[in-house]
Amino acid sequence: MGTQDRLTAGRVFEAGGRLAVESARFTAFGWMRGTSGNLSEVVSRDPLRLAVTASGLDKGELTASDVAVVDEAGDVVPVEGVAPLTPSAEAGLHARVAALTGAGAVVHVHALNAVVAGHRWPDGVLLRDVETLKGIGRLAHDDEVIVPVIRNSQDMTELGDRFESAYDPRTPAVIVASHGLYAWGSDLTRARHVTECVEWLLAYALAVTPA
Ligand SMILES: [Zn+2]
Repeated sequence: MGTQDRLTAGRVFEAGGRLAVESARFTAFGWMRGTSGNLSEVVSRDPLRLAVTASGLDKGELTASDVAVVDEAGDVVPVEGVAPLTPSAEAGLHARVAALTGAGAVVHVHALNAVVAGHRWPDGVLLRDVETLKGIGRLAHDDEVIVPVIRNSQDMTELGDRFESAYDPRTPAVIVASHGLYAWGSDLTRARHVTECVEWLLAYALAVTPA
């Protein structure tokens, strides 16, 4: 689809269907308990528009229409045929991540290992010499990878600024302290793989490092 094409409800619901499937998967992993976490997919690059999971719903039970469209600030953009659902409060950070990194999809989950690792290593989580690093585009040997940890905030602009300061283009994930994990990729499948690998790497780091 060209960037100038008008955004249609069909395009939005296609994305919504993919977001629902991935949300159900992450819910099954225990990473989206309650109604926590949110996923997004870029549906237009210029101007930037994201389809993002709607707020307050069980992420294991989403349908293709449980989706909102937001702009680069995370504010709702009306699309004909799409009900104006409330997007996640964190949609603004999704948009900031997509704008800065060029990602096509962003995953945010409240995975316990990410929160524990952020608590243990508030200045960033060092990972090296483990095969699964290849799953996030890094090397299995002699490559020092730092997953940044940023302080939490309810203000998405502030959180976005912290993300921008901490962002390393080589590392497609960031931990928000006492909160959860953001990970991203060129599309939703890639973002899923990155999320799964990062969560595994954080669990591994916690498991092999004596307290
Ligand atoms: Zn969250």
